[in-house]
Amino acid sequence: MARYSSPREIFGQIVLEITTRIGCGVGCRFCPQSRLASAYSARGEGRRPEHLMTLDTFAACVERLPAYVEIDFSGFAEPWLNPDCTKMLRHALERDRRVRVHTTLQGVEISDAAVLAAVPPDKIGWFSLHLPSRDAGLERFRIDGEYLEVLHLILDARRDVKLVYHGSGVDARVENLLARHGIQLTQPRRTHTRAGNVICPTCKR
Ligand code: SF4
Repeated sequence: MARYSSPREIFGQIVLEITTRIGCGVGCRFCPQSRLASAYSARGEGRRPEHLMTLDTFAACVERLPAYVEIDFSGFAEPWLNPDCTKMLRHALERDRRVRVHTTLQGVEISDAAVLAAVPPDKIGWFSLHLPSRDAGLERFRIDGEYLEVLHLILDARRDVKLVYHGSGVDARVENLLARHGIQLTQPRRTHTRAGNVICPTCKR
């Protein structure tokens, strides 16, 4: 993490984005995953680079990070596709760090959802959920009973969650769940070109 990422300012707050793994199974069509994987491997300089961040690596980075830097679980992969992500989140919170979460909830189990639901509001700088699109082939979400239950638990517990989606709307099962929570979505997130992977008239460059 320390070699490939530096803290930067986001809306006036200094933030370090954490990529907990290389390779994201969500496979959004607009995300340059293969370019990232090639670039990361090429930087191994003869050594085999770590593809799945370990809790030890995470802890070592947190140790060196100034207290004012928020730790942003986001980066170039779904953070919870690393099975140690909840332990990393806990580790950060136990050290009184403020965190940010950007997640698709893929890889989040019920026990993880309980931890996410319980992050104190004063410890979270941003919490966004990327919801599955209804457009076939845009992303590869697994939408099963556990995913829907996890989503329900988070929506039930938190009022600070920002919801984003891409394409023409969200998956119908998710739309039903949102309706049960009294949530009506408005605009989709404006997709940007992501290293030229998305070409469309409305894309942000
Ligand atoms: S979930 Fe995020 S990191 Fe993963 S493929 Fe989609 S946009 Fe890329």
